Amino acid sequence: MKRYHMKTSFTLPRPVPEGPWRWLVPVLLVLLFLLVLLWLPWQARQMESNERQEQLIADTLWVEQTLRFELARSEEALAALGADLAIETPPPAALQARLAQMFKNGHELQRLIWYDAHGDVKASRGLEPPQQGLTQSSRDAATMARSTRIGRYSDPYGAQGLVHGLIDFHLPLYHAGKYMGSLVATYNLQTLLDENVPWWFAQDNALSLLDRDDHVVAQRAAGGPGRGVYTHKRALDLPGAQIVLATDSVKGAPKLLPNLLVGSVVVLALGLVISLVALWRHIARTIAAENALRQQMAFRTAMEDSLLTGLRARDLEGRVTYVNPAFCRIVGLPPEDLLGKMPPMPYWAPEAMSEYETRFRKVLSGQVTPQFETVFQRSDGVRVPVLVFEAPLVDANGRHTGWMSSILDITDRKRAEELNRQQQEKLETSARLATMGEISSMLAHELNQPLAAISSYTAGALNVLTRAGDADGNGAPLDVGTLKRALEQANTQARRAGQIIRSVHEFVKKREPRRETVAIQHVVDGIRALVELQARQSYVSLQVDVPPELPPVLADRVLIEQVLLNLTRNAIEAMQAIDPERRVLRIAAYRAAQSGSQGQVAVSVIDNGHGIAPEVAERLFSPFFSTKAEGMGMGLSICRTAIEFHGGTLAHAANPGGGTVFTFMLQQAQEAAVT
Ligand code: ADP
Repeated sequence: MKRYHMKTSFTLPRPVPEGPWRWLVPVLLVLLFLLVLLWLPWQARQMESNERQEQLIADTLWVEQTLRFELARSEEALAALGADLAIETPPPAALQARLAQMFKNGHELQRLIWYDAHGDVKASRGLEPPQQGLTQSSRDAATMARSTRIGRYSDPYGAQGLVHGLIDFHLPLYHAGKYMGSLVATYNLQTLLDENVPWWFAQDNALSLLDRDDHVVAQRAAGGPGRGVYTHKRALDLPGAQIVLATDSVKGAPKLLPNLLVGSVVVLALGLVISLVALWRHIARTIAAENALRQQMAFRTAMEDSLLTGLRARDLEGRVTYVNPAFCRIVGLPPEDLLGKMPPMPYWAPEAMSEYETRFRKVLSGQVTPQFETVFQRSDGVRVPVLVFEAPLVDANGRHTGWMSSILDITDRKRAEELNRQQQEKLETSARLATMGEISSMLAHELNQPLAAISSYTAGALNVLTRAGDADGNGAPLDVGTLKRALEQANTQARRAGQIIRSVHEFVKKREPRRETVAIQHVVDGIRALVELQARQSYVSLQVDVPPELPPVLADRVLIEQVLLNLTRNAIEAMQAIDPERRVLRIAAYRAAQSGSQGQVAVSVIDNGHGIAPEVAERLFSPFFSTKAEGMGMGLSICRTAIEFHGGTLAHAANPGGGTVFTFMLQQAQEAAVT
């Protein structure tokens, strides 16, 4: 039994549109993602950098405030001292004590000089007053301070090894609107920086004070030189002097690569690209496989659709799980009316219901008839004869999951068979009709002779009666003997006619011949009178040569007599035109050569007639072939059929002395008994 492997039927989604667009969006997204990933650390760095810068600015501002505050505190102390000095000059000791106090409060103060209204030094402390007098800038500051009555700073200048490190503050002294002189304080800017900037700030930043021309006048760089990355400048707000505080952080720009974030971003990005490529290849492979599958499916569907054989699958409970279009065509129902259905099926014909049910019970019990013929009822009620082949359905794991049937619509075959049967019937009918024709023509032929004989015997009898009647008492006496013989002969021929009719009928019906053991001598004797009658009319002499030891044959006697009668009549007719002394008809019988286990007896009818021309010989045995004006052309055809009907043969040959020899062979009978 064939086994089917069931493939689950399913539909594939529509194919994904091919082309570069499919990849454009994911690729753009990935690029964007990478950009963001790379931008983020840069942004973080930028933010860090900004933060540092801001921190520096704030710190710088704070340092500037500290320096300014220190100077302002010193200015206030000077102003207080100046106010006292303008009123009265203290004793020198007290003055020195106050001056010393000033120096103690701020180490940046290097020198303090008190000038009177004439510009003479009234008192001083700290560094020696400059030999060459004050610098030009300091003198300008003094003039400006006197005219504005407000303290004023000079530009930085160098002294005693310091190139530019000192700065003067001129405070004019007035009392009751009168100029009373001035106090000039000299500060060391380097000390200012060293004393007032906290160490932690100096550790992180290089600080410097710059003059109007950007010359460094003081600097502090405890943590080494600045990197020039984070810098800030801030002017110290000193009236009259232009000094700028510049800070330069020792920290460089935040480093990018050692950054853990950047590292992980790079790794992540790489991983992303690799997995994207892998995904890409996987999708490409999937699409290729899908396309191959789709082609396979299309091919299979086309195959199933073009199939003329109906296919139906059922599960183990008999529920229909699959039908192909051919099956739907056979039963005239759409697949949705069939799938999932359990018996009784919509295509079961009511008259065959019990047959289906019996078969279905067998299917449920696990035995199917591999092949059977049945009838389905199409949806329009037409019965469809089908040939069904059933086989177990086995899934991919080798599990028996149901049954697969292939169904052949055998309507055409049945129709052809029916047509064939009808034709056969017709043929038989026409054969019977032909037989009827054969019977009638044969009877017509065969009855000719007995009828002719009856006619001539009754004519003879009438003759005898007429002669006796004519005499009217004085005529010849009634020849009762002749009359009796004639009537007996007529009677015999009439019975013969009846026999002929029976024999011919049976022969034509092709039933088994009524065979009996017949001696040829008896057959010849049976027809001798008739043959002689004909022979006499044609002046033919008859010779019969049948040896007494000749074995009998198995045959229908009447038929053999008819054969002999036909052959002798043909022979007599063939000799009509020859010299009367040569008109000899011979019937000779002899034992023929052994053929097989059975012996044969040959019977020849020999004439000296005109013989048979080759063109006549060709058609000799055809029915209705005759060279005679009155001939029916049935004689030889009947003879041959009759002899072959007995299993014998009929042949003809030329008579060496002129004329023809017709010979038939018959099977020799076994029994000794002779009819
Ligand atoms: P029919 O005798 O009615 O013509 P047959 O079938 O008996 O029909 O014979 C067919 C033909 O065969 C005859 O017409 C005749 O020409 C030829 N034929 C038959 N027997 C002989 C014979 N003994 N000699 C010569 N010709 C013969």
